[in-house]
Amino acid sequence: MQTSRIPGFYNMTVDERRELLSKMSAFSEEDKAYLYAEKPLSTDTADNMIENVVGTFPLPLGLGLNFLINDKEYAVPMAIEEPSVVASASHIAKIVREAGGFTTEATERVMIGQIQVVGCQDFHKAKEVILSEKDTLINYMNTAYPSLIKRGGGAEDLDVRILNEDANSKFSQMLILHVYINTCDAMGANIINTMVEALAPNVEELTGGKVYLRILSNYPDRCLARARCIIPPDLLATEEFTGEMVRDGVIHAYEFAASDPYRAVTHNKGIMNGIDPVVIATGNDWRAVEAGAHAHAARNGRYGSMTEWSKDDEGNLIGELELPMSVGTVGGSIRVHPVSKIAHKLLNVDSAQELAQVIVAVGLAQNLGALKALATDGIQKGHMALHSRSVAIAAGATGEMIDVISQRLIEEKEIRVGKAKELVEEYKK
Ligand code: NDP
Repeated sequence: MQTSRIPGFYNMTVDERRELLSKMSAFSEEDKAYLYAEKPLSTDTADNMIENVVGTFPLPLGLGLNFLINDKEYAVPMAIEEPSVVASASHIAKIVREAGGFTTEATERVMIGQIQVVGCQDFHKAKEVILSEKDTLINYMNTAYPSLIKRGGGAEDLDVRILNEDANSKFSQMLILHVYINTCDAMGANIINTMVEALAPNVEELTGGKVYLRILSNYPDRCLARARCIIPPDLLATEEFTGEMVRDGVIHAYEFAASDPYRAVTHNKGIMNGIDPVVIATGNDWRAVEAGAHAHAARNGRYGSMTEWSKDDEGNLIGELELPMSVGTVGGSIRVHPVSKIAHKLLNVDSAQELAQVIVAVGLAQNLGALKALATDGIQKGHMALHSRSVAIAAGATGEMIDVISQRLIEEKEIRVGKAKELVEEYKK
């Protein structure tokens, strides 16, 4: 899309939004048929994706708007069931774009494959042998995946560690190989697993040990994406709070998360509120992204905040987020799920690196949305107003009744299913 700034999108009907989207995007008739279908994922396709299929489980797909990242516009597809996430991301993205937008960067896409060797007679000697044969082993692995080399990727480096050397350790001593593999635009789990499995017999031969596990690590700390924003305080002001008050509240909220794991978990869950929906919409493995993100939050030996918030000498609020981001633009179910294919078209990213950068920018926006609300009115004011529609539906409201009941719940400041049921009964009389 040429612009992600679409004033009034929120107030349009779904049909109006679709019409606008069709005009702004390079969608084919087939894309539209899938995206706008009541059941975009057919049972046949689903049955080919996983086992024991009995149906499909659709999620709402919304657009995170206003994202300006490295001077490029992004309308971000987000698949999520939780109200207020898309609205909050879009609200913060609007503020950040007024401040010049997000700046992001990503490292090379180097993922990690692990090989576990036990039972070596001399672990140090085994380590030396592996390191002395490093180039041969790397070349061997690359012969197992020649297409990756053709794309400019492949195995690039190899490391060896010995675990549980302490004689008092209750665990077996083991040699762990780390193979660093550039998986280009794929997340790379299957690619890596194929390569490390191919290498295992050579490793056994060289070390005299027995290889057990051969699998990728879901903590790819050489495959990082970073997002940053710098916001003048006046852009943060609300009716009741000055920009400086909001900025300081955000920084104090960050300091709380950085100092307390109980708070850090909730703080980081809010970040993943933004990240997971994009990962899901683009057909990526959100369990892998979640696992890596939380491991990164604990990289200093203690679980802490994924983001950092500070102020500069001019008083601007500075936000930063760095996360491992094992996502792809090809592979897995990305080109299998019809809506994920369309999500990629909509997002218009050229590479996995670019996708990773968009995802961390959304995570940073989502975090600021939550912290800004928490540091001012509290999270419930905005959240519950949006949640009221789900409450009305849960209480049995349908069609036009949903708006009426949801409005009454907000007015009466009682957004509960019990109250909604009473109102539904009253409405039906
Ligand atoms: P695939 O097995 O689908 O491999 C990626 C494919 O993409 C390759 O076969 C490659 O084709 C093709 N390709 C086309 N263009 C490119 C390009 N530019 N760069 C790289 N590859 C390209 O997927 P992944 O290896 O990415 O594995 C991801 C899947 O693995 C996910 O579904 C995930 O859920 C799952 N998984 C996750 C695990 C975990 O996280 N622990 C464990 C096991 C599986 P070609 O062969 O021609 O080179």
